[in-house]
Amino acid sequence: MRNIIVCVKVVPKAENVIFDPATKRLDRSKAENQINDADKTAIEIALRLREKNGGKVILLSMGPPLFENYLKLGVAMGADDAILLSDRNFGGADTYPTALVLSTAITKIGDYDLILAGEESSDAALGQLPGQIAEFLDIPQVLFASSVKFEGGKLRVRRRIKGGHETVETSGPVMVSVEMGAVQPRFPNFEKMKWAVSGFHLKIWNSTELNLREEVTGLKGSLTLVKGLIEITPSKRKRVFIDGNVEEKSSRLAELLKERSLE
Ligand SMILES: Cc1cc2nc3c(=O)[nH]c(=O)nc-3n(C[C@H](O)[C@H](O)[C@H](O)COP(=O)(O)OP(=O)(O)OC[C@H]3O[C@@H](n4cnc5c(N)ncnc54)[C@H](O)[C@@H]3O)c2cc1C
Repeated sequence: MRNIIVCVKVVPKAENVIFDPATKRLDRSKAENQINDADKTAIEIALRLREKNGGKVILLSMGPPLFENYLKLGVAMGADDAILLSDRNFGGADTYPTALVLSTAITKIGDYDLILAGEESSDAALGQLPGQIAEFLDIPQVLFASSVKFEGGKLRVRRRIKGGHETVETSGPVMVSVEMGAVQPRFPNFEKMKWAVSGFHLKIWNSTELNLREEVTGLKGSLTLVKGLIEITPSKRKRVFIDGNVEEKSSRLAELLKERSLE
């Protein structure tokens, strides 16, 4: 098998996610971070595929320099290589320039059969990146996979659908997003961790290396703009009893639901 590229996002732990009302952006400065859980699942699937079929597992992430240490954790899990896409110009990106930067880097890496990503991130949780990357690269996409196998030169991807599963067979290159928890990610290996920290050379590519103009990346290249933030105050619970027969109760319930959703 050729290269397996795994898109890895470093996310703040859920309890640390805060928005800065002044800039209307995520404020990561005080957050404790971790590799996005679904991406750890993707790394594990990649490692199992490599163990059976050869190839190299390459981790790819766009983010600030602090992401380096988390990519090294992925290397300690067993990845062969890791590349961080980092540049001041990449900051404040919505999904479009994020996908552009990642897919440009994937093209630069080349020689791949499979790109894996998590189904969604636990912070912005848009779930758009895998599809967008596939579109930029003009390759097929199979989303929300629960297992990925490589058999007889073909990739067999199993995904949950309403009422069951379907198995999609495709030849690479293909983008596959995986469900969080589809497999149990392994712990980083202690010996490999020592090497990842002291011996491993993590590549950092900026906009010059990717040949991307400032206007197409980060905030400038974003197609959306956060215009405002609304704090949702916890709603006050109100217990309502509805009298009548089944028809009367259900039509009154429908009325109440309609009124509430219009509030
Ligand atoms: C208008 C707007 C402004 C924003 N401004 C900011 C900002 O200022 N600062 C900020 O931190 N965020 C910002 N965001 C959020 C940022 O756009 C998203 O974090 C990013 O585009 C990825 O979206 P997501 O996290 O929902 O990814 P999803 O589509 O939910 O991610 C799915 C998978 O794609 C992969 N993936 C996602 N992001 C990356 C990445 N960076 N590197 C590698 N793989 C990845 C992972 O495998 C992940 O599991 C903004 C979003 C919007 C819409």
